[in-house]
Amino acid sequence: MKLLIIEDEKELAGLLAESLAREQFVVESAGDFDTAMEKLGVYNYDCILLDIGLPDGNGLDILRQLKEEGKSENVIIISARDSLDDKLAGLDLGADDYLTKPFHIAELNARVKAVLRRKETDGKHLLEFGNLTLDLKERQAFVKDNNLQLNRKEFDILNYFLLNKTRLVTKTALAEHVWGDNIDQADNFDFIYYQMKNLRKKLRDNDAGIEIESVYGVGYRSIEK
Ligand code: CA
Repeated sequence: MKLLIIEDEKELAGLLAESLAREQFVVESAGDFDTAMEKLGVYNYDCILLDIGLPDGNGLDILRQLKEEGKSENVIIISARDSLDDKLAGLDLGADDYLTKPFHIAELNARVKAVLRRKETDGKHLLEFGNLTLDLKERQAFVKDNNLQLNRKEFDILNYFLLNKTRLVTKTALAEHVWGDNIDQADNFDFIYYQMKNLRKKLRDNDAGIEIESVYGVGYRSIEK
């Protein structure tokens, strides 16, 4: 797996490169907008870590161009700007994830792995658990032939649980992965309860072979019935 770090802060770029190389990734770096565009024109990467504020341009323009060219690189934005607008713009443009500086290297490693894991499942488009099938391309969920008619968030939630079968999923992780919000900005997790309630009802009503159980005070876990 090959990564490109687009980051003008040399020290940070070095730290990231070192840490990700230890995780067995092949790591390349670009310290400015032009170098990044040059590299992206020539090479392919599995995942790009993208700083928004570059000395000679805006990282979001790089992302925009990648998407316009139909490139399949996964992009994780790493930005010092803790602005909701930038974040939404980035996710809107198709970024896979967003981390606000400063962040823990371990957190970044985890996010990169999660993004790449999602990429691997993309190849086959279908995720299965019990009698439940998720079509990632069509964004539809089925129990046998019954379409669960999930809304966008419900689908994203279920997708996340199927990528983490039987594992504990904390509310924080779920919020970050489905809503892309950073924890500081969420006063409470009522929005999760609401979506989970509806999702569980749809699973029950359609005789799904899985359920999502609460782990008191922590989060949820998907289990096969
Ligand atoms: Ca910067």
